[in-house]
Amino acid sequence: MGASPKAIRVNKTTGTGVEIDWVDGHQSVYKFQYLRDACPCATCDDEREAEGRDFGVPPKPKPGALPMFRDPARPTEISPVGNYAINFHWNDGHTTGIYSWEFLRLICPCEECRQKRNGKKLKAGDAGAIQ
Ligand SMILES: [Zn+2]
Ligand SMILES: [Zn+2]
Repeated sequence: MGASPKAIRVNKTTGTGVEIDWVDGHQSVYKFQYLRDACPCATCDDEREAEGRDFGVPPKPKPGALPMFRDPARPTEISPVGNYAINFHWNDGHTTGIYSWEFLRLICPCEECRQKRNGKKLKAGDAGAIQ
């Protein structure tokens, strides 16, 4: 059985993030910035891979470069993809990430799930993410 959400709350106006209640009773709370930095599209996946970054970890500034100012990530648009995923249009213009339920469950930032992952670097393909 794949991960399926019972309820999804997107706090777009308050800008806090996304909350998902799963059918097995687990609850996941994601900040928008975390989701942006965890974007499962092929481009972001390659960038993370090149830098050895885990999902949700912001990109490192290039050595010698000034820290880049980043607008806090916010979705401008959120749309369902079939009944298995959601797509975010981010305020930085990035729109290619398809976040499947399995993927979202896999990157759940709570302590329990973090420990289950045990610091293991994840690839979007691990969750059968669609690229
Ligand atoms: Zn991406
Ligand atoms: Zn969790």
